Amino acid sequence: MYFNNHIKTFSLFVLLLISLTVKSQKIQYDQDVSRYYNEGIAHFNNGDYHAANAAFRNALATNRVLPTNLSYYFAETLYYVRQFQNSRNFVEKYINLAGYSGDFYEEAIHLRELINNEFQKIIDCQRCNSFGYRLIFCERCETTGVEMTECPDCKGTGNTLCPKCTGKGVLITLDTFSQNHYETCDKCQGEGVIVCELCEGHKEITRICTLCLGVGLRSSNVICTHEDLEEEEEDDDDDDEQKELFQKKKVYRQ
Ligand SMILES: [Zn+2]
Ligand SMILES: [Zn+2]
Ligand SMILES: [Zn+2]
Ligand SMILES: [Zn+2]
Repeated sequence: MYFNNHIKTFSLFVLLLISLTVKSQKIQYDQDVSRYYNEGIAHFNNGDYHAANAAFRNALATNRVLPTNLSYYFAETLYYVRQFQNSRNFVEKYINLAGYSGDFYEEAIHLRELINNEFQKIIDCQRCNSFGYRLIFCERCETTGVEMTECPDCKGTGNTLCPKCTGKGVLITLDTFSQNHYETCDKCQGEGVIVCELCEGHKEITRICTLCLGVGLRSSNVICTHEDLEEEEEDDDDDDEQKELFQKKKVYRQ
């Protein structure tokens, strides 16, 4: 009896699965979506992940209903182009949407592990920010973390209006006969202006570097390889941007 019930439940489950699968196959996607999706998969299968990335992004940009598997393909593509945060978002999206019965469930779980490994490398690496982009020396503050800027109170003049006489240079009071009585302002000695209290007349103030927020290093758009600088310098890397960066670093280190 118990066994029979089990069989029944199981066959119901199988029926449900079949009907779900049939249902999902019936979905007609927008023509553009299908075209970009198939293009993306073709590039993906050829190992051209930058082209696949572009095609999947085009599919996403249509704002139409997308095949669930696109999330997986896109996540794996993003992993290869080293956009790990995005890759993580899409693999999680895929697992949520497709669940255990998803075509790429096992692959998705594996991909999630690979992404976690990459994030661990980022955490362990001293040379990149939390998104894996290479940190470079801040050129604005020359790594001091502070910069000089025009004083906002005196607008770089070193003086501000005397608050006591409001710039008139004289203090006007009424005497006992209701007559105006004029007296040279004692705060500004009749000048109408006083030395700026914020910059103390220096015309500039020191503030935290707005480019690196005081760290002395800033993020670049170069994706970090988490290798030692020396190792990379020996590499025959054709990436001009990276070469330029290392040259800059070399200059700094001399
Ligand atoms: Zn005054
Ligand atoms: Zn000032
Ligand atoms: Zn800076
Ligand atoms: Zn790194």
